[in-house]
Amino acid sequence: MAVAVFHEGGYDFVEDTRKWEIKFKEDKQHNLLFHYVEKDILRITELLEGFISKRMDSILLRTEPIESLTESKELMEMFESLHPYYRNNANVFVAAFKDCLNNVLLRANTVKPLSKERYKRLFNGFMKLFGLTGYMECKPVDEYSDFEKECWEVSYDDYILRADRDYLVEAIDPFKKEIKNQKIIKRMLFWIFDVSAPILRELTIVKRVWLYDRFFQDDYEQFKGTKITKNLSSSTIYVQTAAYSDIDYLCNKLGNYLKDFHKNPEDIPTAALNDLYSLAQYAKMQTDSAIYDGYEIDDLHHLLFYEILTMVELNVAIKKCKNCGVYFTLNNLNAEYCNRIPQGEKKTCQVLGARRKYKEKLKDDYPQETYNRFYNKYSQRVRTGVMEKADFETWKNFAKEGLGKVRAGELDIKTFEGRLEIEPKKINICNE
Ligand SMILES: [Zn+2]
Repeated sequence: MAVAVFHEGGYDFVEDTRKWEIKFKEDKQHNLLFHYVEKDILRITELLEGFISKRMDSILLRTEPIESLTESKELMEMFESLHPYYRNNANVFVAAFKDCLNNVLLRANTVKPLSKERYKRLFNGFMKLFGLTGYMECKPVDEYSDFEKECWEVSYDDYILRADRDYLVEAIDPFKKEIKNQKIIKRMLFWIFDVSAPILRELTIVKRVWLYDRFFQDDYEQFKGTKITKNLSSSTIYVQTAAYSDIDYLCNKLGNYLKDFHKNPEDIPTAALNDLYSLAQYAKMQTDSAIYDGYEIDDLHHLLFYEILTMVELNVAIKKCKNCGVYFTLNNLNAEYCNRIPQGEKKTCQVLGARRKYKEKLKDDYPQETYNRFYNKYSQRVRTGVMEKADFETWKNFAKEGLGKVRAGELDIKTFEGRLEIEPKKINICNE
């Protein structure tokens, strides 16, 4: 089991090991969510079909082991880059493959009811096809035991009798679901939060939700139903790992002594009191003791759905950044750029965007651009000592005056440009 602990607009995703380790976090910027909807995952179907075809061939021809298939590698990478939920989460893939298997078995069973024995064989064959012994990997076929070989051959024949490759490809719906769910999440963000959405942007978030609901209720019906728990203290979930075994040990040891502590505090032995004192010190160290909502998560889309609910509660406004094209949350409705640093850049979109805007403005402002060009040229001369600062200042005043005249329509641009060319020292002569 994994739990998402929601607080102040974000969440911590913790996994049910004894230590309750935090696997990843999302904050108020919702970057994981916004990047998720931008990832191109349409190739999932193609990759899966390739994977199944090649895998079936490799088992029949007894050649390639599963891990060498480029499709399985690419698939893995695609999911892992999609959202940290999929990172090192073998269970997600195993669960999806098991769903595939169920699809196959259900259909096979409707064609002709399976005997227990044949069901088992088909099941085993399918497990081999997807290499469910490990994380999408399987040993080379020639390493199977005789028993395994027999199982596979029989079940494969069974499968061939009942179905064909296309039929198996159809069974991979659980993965295709990812594409559908991504579309749904994208649609929700646009309908409910995007301040650039025509017509919708005039409504409050609650009204937008109402409207969205009229059209797309079925969309998110499947996201509902996660178990939600109100918990008294999140500190139980963030026990400091180093001290965990100490705490565990003390609690076990003390359990019996403390049952009646509330009745007769004086009656418990001194040693036990000392242990309790130590535990109280650990309690003091816990930083976060507020009530929190824990959401049991076994599907990424439940997690994203609950994230969206917190955004509704907090009236979040979003917009696509004009530089990187990814959604960002708005404090100021007029903001156009996010403050993320796009891949391969050193500056934030805000800085890059402001620069681009200035350049674009210059394109439409030839006189200003001309002035800047000469300004840079002569200021460079001042820096290298070729030109006197005083001469530069004289030139600058002269050029600024000219720029004003061009703007007022009193001087044409060609003459202006020609005059700027004049060497600074001659300016005074020209003016005379
Ligand atoms: Zn951006």
